[in-house]
Amino acid sequence: MRFEDMGLEESILDSLQRIKFDKPTKIQRKAIPMIREGHDVFAQSETGSGKTAAFGIPIVEKVKIGEGIQALILEPTRELAKQVAGEIKKFSKYKGVKIATVYGGTSYVPQIKDLKRAEIVVGTPGRVMDMMNKGHISPPDINIFVLDEADKMIDMGFYDDMVFIAKQMPRDRQTLLFSATMPDKLKYIRKKFSKKAKTIETAYKVNDDVLKQYFYDIPYTKKFSLLLHLIADEAPELSIVFCNARREADDVARNLKENGINARSLHGGMPQNKREKTIKQFHAKNIEVLVATDVAARGIDVKDVTHIFNYGIPANAEDYANRIGRTARAGEEGTAISLLSRDDHDAFRRVQRTFSYNIQEVRPPRFRVMEFKKHNYNYSKRNGPKRRFRRSA
Ligand code: AMP
Repeated sequence: MRFEDMGLEESILDSLQRIKFDKPTKIQRKAIPMIREGHDVFAQSETGSGKTAAFGIPIVEKVKIGEGIQALILEPTRELAKQVAGEIKKFSKYKGVKIATVYGGTSYVPQIKDLKRAEIVVGTPGRVMDMMNKGHISPPDINIFVLDEADKMIDMGFYDDMVFIAKQMPRDRQTLLFSATMPDKLKYIRKKFSKKAKTIETAYKVNDDVLKQYFYDIPYTKKFSLLLHLIADEAPELSIVFCNARREADDVARNLKENGINARSLHGGMPQNKREKTIKQFHAKNIEVLVATDVAARGIDVKDVTHIFNYGIPANAEDYANRIGRTARAGEEGTAISLLSRDDHDAFRRVQRTFSYNIQEVRPPRFRVMEFKKHNYNYSKRNGPKRRFRRSA
């Protein structure tokens, strides 16, 4: 099936052609017709699945130019809000739909100006609520309400704001909910705030042909040296090294830099402007290796990320899925490499139990053992259970 076969508006088809979207992805094939028909939709959405276009295309089609704000899209972070707005702008270009992006930590004035002209608003819950309270967003006029990455919004403490905003919406609006998981609080929102919704499940499936996953079993003391060796050996175009802790991310980035690798850290402990600058530099390929924590890297959408390195395995299996979703985007190839030491085995087993991924073990190659300098942090505290990991094959 191609986008032309879906009977979409000409202006949208032209925009899609310009950005070289030919065939709809699986979630787009399922969600676009349902949303166009006016159904509420709950989609279990994997990152990199094309979910932004899945709700963005029918929304752009539905809104009427010059009739004020008709669609509200909530996002957990400013980065995601900007990214989603940017993506929707790509296929609303020819229709002339205007999108306002609203998020906290920055001045109200330009955002208020944008809201006056916009048909679609993308924003983080706190600022959206402020704008409603100040009268710059008028809930009765909104007929499409999207909760994107809804589980993450709950994780980030936005539950009350989400409920508050949902309560302001007109009863007969259309609600679209996109989430990787379905925590209990979300079940409540789903029951209370939506009509009979259609459900789309796409599960966390990765395409083994384009995304290869490997793991190495290695003592923690040698992890950094192996990482350095692999980065030198694989020469990734752009890569993200995921760490479980902020300090660890800083230390790994600093040690990589000291070894001549163009690396930078990205985590929630950094000021917003520094985070944004780092993401921009990574987009512009002025940074080759981004050393990040899960929250900070959520939603980063850079096409040429060829490698994901897991310096540790996240306690939450879904975070692993989100991490590897940063590579092999939109049909490109990618490699995800996990470095496991004793502390990681429980979490790794959880990943394997939750998803039926094909993650192959690789014997560590010969590599030089380098010094890893730690800065004011005692990693011995992080030592986990002593149980040995049983190899699967
Ligand atoms: P998302 O899951 O919305 O973050 O999208 C992941 C990536 O896939 C983004 O870079 C999109 O621009 C791209 N993408 C989404 N849909 C398509 C499509 N039908 N054809 C090609 N690329 C797409």
